[in-house]
Amino acid sequence: MSEQKSRLAIIIPCFNEELVVKSTVETLLGVLDGIITKGKITEDSYIYLVDDGSKDSTWYIIEELRNLYGERIKGTKFIRNYGNQKALIAGLLGVREIGCDCAVSIDADLQQDENAIEVFVDEFHKGADIVSGIRNDRKTDSFFKKYTALCFYKLMNILGVKIPPNHSDFRLVSRHALDILEQYREEGLFLRGFFHEIGLKTAYVHFNVKPRALGSSKYNFFSLTSLALNGITAFSIVPLRIIAACGVITMLGSFLLAFEVLLEKYVLHTTPSGWATLVILLAFFGGLQIFCLGIIGEYLGQIFNEVKGRPRYIKGIELK
Ligand code: UDP
Ligand code: MG
Repeated sequence: MSEQKSRLAIIIPCFNEELVVKSTVETLLGVLDGIITKGKITEDSYIYLVDDGSKDSTWYIIEELRNLYGERIKGTKFIRNYGNQKALIAGLLGVREIGCDCAVSIDADLQQDENAIEVFVDEFHKGADIVSGIRNDRKTDSFFKKYTALCFYKLMNILGVKIPPNHSDFRLVSRHALDILEQYREEGLFLRGFFHEIGLKTAYVHFNVKPRALGSSKYNFFSLTSLALNGITAFSIVPLRIIAACGVITMLGSFLLAFEVLLEKYVLHTTPSGWATLVILLAFFGGLQIFCLGIIGEYLGQIFNEVKGRPRYIKGIELK
């Protein structure tokens, strides 16, 4: 098996990464060279950069790198910022079109340990279709991000999407997995859920996370919340079932209440005590209804997005 040589594509989503993109590409070319020398991947293995609508000189630097390193550097530029998930999907489908046996996605700031890529390739050669990078710890994350991420993975597990915690978008996927991805047309695809759900043979590799060397995190509270909500509604219908369950419980409760009221009226002949109960119940059920409507709204939003069938992104330029 060690004789096997694969064409590897490394995908890097970039959003305003002018400070790091050059050194990242050069480091990764070094990593590619190392694995090529060991005879594990072919010489036409390459790097594919997806510029997610950067406003700085990221794309200019990518073009310069292309001139320097030729066809080892490929890429595309979105006409505007679509977010990291869509940049990743564009990368995966882009390298599928160009051709590769396996593809690894890694962040432009190289926070993930690039030396794990060789281990990913080894696992791929041992037969895994997906090799998932698992962070050893979350030391580099802020307190807020660490705990919200933990809660998110717990919630996903409760809702039936059994993604391992500390999962990341640092992973290798095989050509076979890419062919399946191509058939998933939904706009709001959540990749971590998707690669887990398709159920191909998966290996896990632990890696160390480094602090971001330069520049700042491109995620904020709103984009993280949107990613989490998308992950949940795209992969789980359990919240809808919770609404149904709430409905059943409420109905049972109202039967008990009716029984009590009838008992008070016809047997005990006590007068209804009035305001307090009414107001509390009104407020409680009002709140419950709005909450449930909110959950339904989440799903409606998903349906709304899907039925429009818009393209996920529009590519402006492409280097092939
Ligand atoms: N990214 C992207 N589009 C976005 C936000 C981020 O392509 O809208 C890229 C970014 O350039 C980086 C990766 O996604 O390569 C991860 O982003 P970042 O390092 O800022 O996230 P963090 O490490 O803080 O989670
Ligand atoms: Mg980062």
